[in-house]
Amino acid sequence: MKYISTRGDAPVLGFCDAVLGGLADDGGLYLPQTWPQISQDEIASFANKTFSEIAFAIISRFTGDEIAPNELKAIVEEAYSSFNHPSITPLVELEPSHFVLELFHGPTLAFKDVAMQFLALVMDHILVKRQQRATIIGATSGDTGSAAIEAFRGRDNIDIFILHPYGRTSEVQRRQMTSVLDDNVYNIALKGNFDDCQTIVKGLFGNKKFRQRTALSGVNSINWGRILAQITYYFKAASDLGAPNREIDFSVPTGNFGDIFAGFAAKQMGLPIGKLNIATNENDILVRTIDSGKYEASGVKPTTSPSMDIQVSSNFERLLFEALGRNDEDLCRLMDSLKQSGGFSISKDVLSVLRKDFAALKADEDQVVATMKDCYLQSGYLIDPHTAVGVFVARGLKDSDRQMVSLSTAHPAKFPDAVKNATGVMPALPYFLADLFEKPEQYDILENEQKVIEKYILDRTRA
Ligand SMILES: *Cc1c(COP(=O)(O)O)cnc(C)c1O
Repeated sequence: MKYISTRGDAPVLGFCDAVLGGLADDGGLYLPQTWPQISQDEIASFANKTFSEIAFAIISRFTGDEIAPNELKAIVEEAYSSFNHPSITPLVELEPSHFVLELFHGPTLAFKDVAMQFLALVMDHILVKRQQRATIIGATSGDTGSAAIEAFRGRDNIDIFILHPYGRTSEVQRRQMTSVLDDNVYNIALKGNFDDCQTIVKGLFGNKKFRQRTALSGVNSINWGRILAQITYYFKAASDLGAPNREIDFSVPTGNFGDIFAGFAAKQMGLPIGKLNIATNENDILVRTIDSGKYEASGVKPTTSPSMDIQVSSNFERLLFEALGRNDEDLCRLMDSLKQSGGFSISKDVLSVLRKDFAALKADEDQVVATMKDCYLQSGYLIDPHTAVGVFVARGLKDSDRQMVSLSTAHPAKFPDAVKNATGVMPALPYFLADLFEKPEQYDILENEQKVIEKYILDRTRA
């Protein structure tokens, strides 16, 4: 299996290089050259398989001959052994023919664990084989950082440096990062805001000498390895509900479009999905795009679902490439327009291609509160604000002939204040995090200056 860039001007790579590289050299995103097909019979056989068995069946189609089957099997099993539910991603029936897919049973209580636990092991595996080391750098406003730190802690050949804005993350989020004391984990509390953290990380990637010296690698949601690991739970949920004999719709709380693009990938591979519903909060660039064909960036509005507070949605480029019939020249034209004028228009034909697979709706802050409250009053079920966006949109777009699955992307205890405001109930942390507030913390407070961060990393990385 080979990987090509959406912008058509980067080397064609195998699985290992595509995953270690993250972004393509031409600024594009890597995609498999063709979509592997899973037959209807094989999908039917998933009904009796465990999550890890299904995950192995899916992922092995994409690794080709670059990772030996027995080694991949061990990686997948180890990745999901860190989850605190025997089904890994269980389905809960919220109301008739509407199910919630709980993706938050990983170590940091967010769906990002599903991808990150796999990615960390697979990257470490590749580096150990090649006798190389790498440095991971990332900026976080909370969720991504903790999922990455938890996944990369203690890995042999990787050091991880995560920048968070000093004093501006919630206490739960900070402690989930800073209470990890492994030698290869470095928490940097930057004297600045989240944008400053991102600017510094971009600057570090932009410094070619530094990048090469530290063997810098990224694990943000454009990394193909993350999308790949998210395809698994679409197959698992659909087969739990009777695939391939039934078509199922999904509602996906969406920010950077990684999670929902994995659903699109599952559909390309033969999973009978009806509609993929793009659920956004008030940062609704994707809803406006599906409505009008105009993709236009606007400012970021802070909401109670911060992991979906985005200005542009980076993985949407992958979908556009597909909708354009994989024409990289047309795609580059749109991306140039985005860079130069902050937006682009999609032709009528391409828009109708998008609307075949996708519908989109937003939930405003009042609707999010009402949905959290209603789910609690109706069935005693607590959901977090991100999940509430998805549930609201699922209800709004539900087709009476098909079953709907709403993806639950975070545990309610990850956003306790918003949940308490809406329902009056303070969600409890699960038992394995109960001591979070007693654990010692380790982090360094650093000036908002790229040079300072560079020196800090150079002094510490083993790469
Ligand atoms: C990251 C995240 C999302 C958005 O996922 P994308 O893949 O960026 O669309 C939604 N909910 C939660 C809780 C997240 O952490």
